[in-house]
Amino acid sequence: MVINRGIVLNFDEIHDSWIPLLKKSQLNVLGLHNWSADGLFENKIDEMISFMNSERGHALLESLDKANIRIEFEIHAMSWLLPRQHYASHPDWFRMDDRGNRTPDANCCPTHAEGIEIIQENSIELAKQLRPTTHRYFFWQDDNKPWCNCRECRDLTASDQNLMLMNKILEAVRSVDKDAKLAFLAYMNTLDIVPQTVQPSDGIFLEITGPFIHHMANRELQRPMNNAKFQQSVSNHLSFFGAKGAHVLEYWLDASLQSGWRKPAKRLHFGQKQVKEDIAFYVSQGFQSITSFGVFLDADYFREYGIPPVEEYGRVLQQ
Ligand SMILES: [Zn+2]
Repeated sequence: MVINRGIVLNFDEIHDSWIPLLKKSQLNVLGLHNWSADGLFENKIDEMISFMNSERGHALLESLDKANIRIEFEIHAMSWLLPRQHYASHPDWFRMDDRGNRTPDANCCPTHAEGIEIIQENSIELAKQLRPTTHRYFFWQDDNKPWCNCRECRDLTASDQNLMLMNKILEAVRSVDKDAKLAFLAYMNTLDIVPQTVQPSDGIFLEITGPFIHHMANRELQRPMNNAKFQQSVSNHLSFFGAKGAHVLEYWLDASLQSGWRKPAKRLHFGQKQVKEDIAFYVSQGFQSITSFGVFLDADYFREYGIPPVEEYGRVLQQ
């Protein structure tokens, strides 16, 4: 049986049916996400913080606690940790593109000490505001975006730059939560290659996304079973990071992906047999922590299509 059985929902799509459904499905971890239609993830993090500090947020925490379901936050965090408005006064905190220009479009310059200091200060603030009861933190790099080409960074792969930054973030978060662990998200350009020169600090764990997202245009490669390259990559990453604490983030319940990230949501297609095989693959590799996005499963979705197949998913994770 998978130990951590989760689902990742957008914080602003949670409604009253969810806690009883999670309970019935024997899921024990709820991840909150900050998907945003306009891509301004930093604003969504501000909203998320307000929500968690509101009466509704407190009520959510209380009912999760009663149901023995732990909470964590799987979020796009880069533009909150290094606000883009610093670019005007400190362009060198930001990444250099391949033409030699500093740009605030994505990620950061992970070797710039002053920029890193700002990111660390903000990581501490974020860790205080959004406290996971699992002690697992997820402060992701920007989605499939390039990293820094400055003189100090250019010889480091995207994976090395990401890991270098995650080590620094973890160091900061541990100053407010000594049990903190931080995900290294292997996703698209950071899934292709394991870090070459940077080593993970104690407390960094591997988070791997399912192959579907990397192969949107090729149905054949969307499942781990059919994708030798993905399997190799999983194996390389597990050798590098270790299987202990390794975590899978999949898309089996993600109505947002199946709807092309546009509302109104389409009815979710859930292939139980395939999901079972996928989970068996991950378990065979040593993963004991598995979750799936379930973005767009809001109150409108339940009204339109009824209860999504969360119980079916929970049953497969139990086996
Ligand atoms: Zn750099």
